[in-house]
Amino acid sequence: MSLFWNEGIETKSQDEIRCIQSERLKSVIEWVAARSEFHRARFKEAGIDPKDIDGLDDLVHIPSMSKADFSDNYPLKMLCVDRKTLREVHLSSGSTGAPVVMAYDDHDLDQWAECMARCYRMAGIEEGDTIQITPSFGLFNGGFGFYHGARKAGLFIIPTGAGNTLRQIKLMNDFHVKAIMGVVSYGIRIMEVLQEINQAIPSLKIGMFGAETFSDSMCEKIENGLGIEAFDIYGMTETGGVGTTGMDCGAHNGIHVWEDQYILEVIDTQTLKPLADGEEGEVVFTSLNRQAIPVIRLRTGDISRVISRDRCPCGRTHARLDRIKGRIDDMLIIKGVNFYPRQIEQALMDITGVRSHYQIIIEDINGVKDLRINVEADEGVTGYMVEKHLKEVLGFSPKGDVFKPGTLPRQEGKAVRVFFEKRGD
Ligand SMILES: [Zn+2]
Repeated sequence: MSLFWNEGIETKSQDEIRCIQSERLKSVIEWVAARSEFHRARFKEAGIDPKDIDGLDDLVHIPSMSKADFSDNYPLKMLCVDRKTLREVHLSSGSTGAPVVMAYDDHDLDQWAECMARCYRMAGIEEGDTIQITPSFGLFNGGFGFYHGARKAGLFIIPTGAGNTLRQIKLMNDFHVKAIMGVVSYGIRIMEVLQEINQAIPSLKIGMFGAETFSDSMCEKIENGLGIEAFDIYGMTETGGVGTTGMDCGAHNGIHVWEDQYILEVIDTQTLKPLADGEEGEVVFTSLNRQAIPVIRLRTGDISRVISRDRCPCGRTHARLDRIKGRIDDMLIIKGVNFYPRQIEQALMDITGVRSHYQIIIEDINGVKDLRINVEADEGVTGYMVEKHLKEVLGFSPKGDVFKPGTLPRQEGKAVRVFFEKRGD
């Protein structure tokens, strides 16, 4: 089986990719300038004549967009196509109250399916394979995103949606499911239930997980627990949904961003200037092949870095982005130390006997912040071990409490890991 869906595009040289990006950037600027008052006003304010955008080198002059632009223009004020051509909509929570809306015409749904089909094939899933889609089918883009791609790739779909883990496991065994799709914490949930009922899913070989950041160690835990190879799939409502901006390949050394579809930049969060490859900053995307609501220099709030633009051992040439370290909004500052929840997760999972459920609790006692970690672990793991291990990562010692497996609260859907507690005298 070929691991490529669109080998010609996926293996183009970086020079060729840059040519495609320059041409498509000109087209998309022309497209939004002709159709959207929102974009015309932005260009005018920045003193830019859209006709002067002549390629990639001019990108830095264009002002960035953010999630707030979506909320401010709820529901369809940024629309660039005739409303009668719309076919589907997905929503996620916004930053200022109103949700983020992504609408799709037929072209956009096909673009989404193309990106997803590449992800399926990259993971080793081919025509006729059976997959189970566990995110909900609704306004959240996960369920339908996997579905559209699977239709294009010719897969046999078990569209369970969220919840009822025992039935999910039964269906996986009854239908010999080869691959599952879900949010990271649902992979963990399935793993736990399998342990409880002392069962396995022998047919299961592949998992594609997204929507939550996860550490290398958590990924390894899921792989060992389910006996699968796990892939980190990336995408958000604003870029068009799950998988649009890429996934890691079998080399598991970064997320291949589909660069013929999106321009990837990493910028300094203070100066907003583009950073060199390898430097860590905010991920910014420009969509090159979407019609209804294209994004131009969208600030994602995600923190990462470009690992490499060299040809990957898998043969692909599209840039590789490191696992998302966290979101700008998620950065914690305690005792003068800046860190992201994922760094805590990584440190915890490195302790032998620690399970996959934990809570990061930020205590604010009379204005002084402190950190407490609750974690589930096997017998033998002590709070002191947790504290000592985390001190090596953070430089200060948080409070560590160890709980028996299965005793910390669980949520359906995306996991909440960070809690804030305020106390005073
Ligand atoms: Zn690769």
